[in-house]
Amino acid sequence: MIVVMERNADAKDVKEVLDRIEEMGYETHSIEGISKTIIGIIGNIDREELINSLGAYPNIEKIVPIQEPYKLANRSFKNEPTVIKLGEDVTIGGKEITIMAGPCAVENEKQIIDTARAIKKAGAKILRGGAFKPRTSPYSFQGLQEKGLKLLKMAAEDSGLKIITEVMSSEHVELIGKYTDIFQIGARNMQNFYLLKKVGNAGKPVMLKRGLTATYKEFIMAAEYIMSEGNYNVILCERGIRTFEDYTRNTLDLISIPVLKKLTHLPVVIDPSHGTGRRDLVAPAATGAVAMGADGLIVEVHPHPVKALSDGQQSLHFAEFREMLRNLTKVARAVDRKIISY
Ligand code: PEP
Ligand code: MN
Repeated sequence: MIVVMERNADAKDVKEVLDRIEEMGYETHSIEGISKTIIGIIGNIDREELINSLGAYPNIEKIVPIQEPYKLANRSFKNEPTVIKLGEDVTIGGKEITIMAGPCAVENEKQIIDTARAIKKAGAKILRGGAFKPRTSPYSFQGLQEKGLKLLKMAAEDSGLKIITEVMSSEHVELIGKYTDIFQIGARNMQNFYLLKKVGNAGKPVMLKRGLTATYKEFIMAAEYIMSEGNYNVILCERGIRTFEDYTRNTLDLISIPVLKKLTHLPVVIDPSHGTGRRDLVAPAATGAVAMGADGLIVEVHPHPVKALSDGQQSLHFAEFREMLRNLTKVARAVDRKIISY
């Protein structure tokens, strides 16, 4: 259920209503919109009892049920799109399409420093790089772990970039939280509900990647887990799903962009690298993503893709990345968005 307060309700009126709802034993989440406050009520609700007890409060405009199982992520709970701010000049979900880029995995100091400088010079704002890698084989490179986080931080500070990196296990949330600006939850962990709750309490934005076989509803419910812990800064990332087609690594589902933006108020980012698995298809996929309304892109870039310890076949060379951003700037303009490129 949501309670929409009147336009002229002040903080005291809102608090009175919140207190009453909490007295009844329900959990509340309130959002201050541009003109009014909306209170979300979560749990097994006795609608009649709730409507009766709130009936006497004069500053309530309406009480409406949310039919969908996702409440806090729902457009009817919060109509304005969520804009996530990182420091002074990085936003996700605003007019500017946010570019995140970097290697699949942090491999060594030179690799990550050189990549950070190159992507920054091209226009990116956020450095990606795995320190804990979810590899299909236990014999493949697993990531540099804390050493990787340190190198990532060094490279980001050197270039003036923010950081996004994957957290695979709840035991690493605290450690990774010391280094990263955004937690990435990988596709394979989309329904690791315990991990989702942990990052919901970690006080930093979370980018949630869509599971390999997740429906939109399952994807949004996973975001709801994070939000129900009080962390509303969630970014949804489509990275391709498993289908019968095996020419591409995954099938990138671009129609998810308008769907997720219709159903939720959360920013939607596209990963054209894992979505296609092929370097030659990254730019076309990114072009489609920008045209369809994506709020950001996360792209794998490596100084020497052929030598990469993971995902070299889908990683762009520096020059390819730069050229892609330049072309995307024009596409962004056509859909009334902005991409910075140099
Ligand atoms: C990654 O971003 O490097 C990654 C492992 O992605 P995904 O979880 O989407 O496979
Ligand atoms: Mn990768």
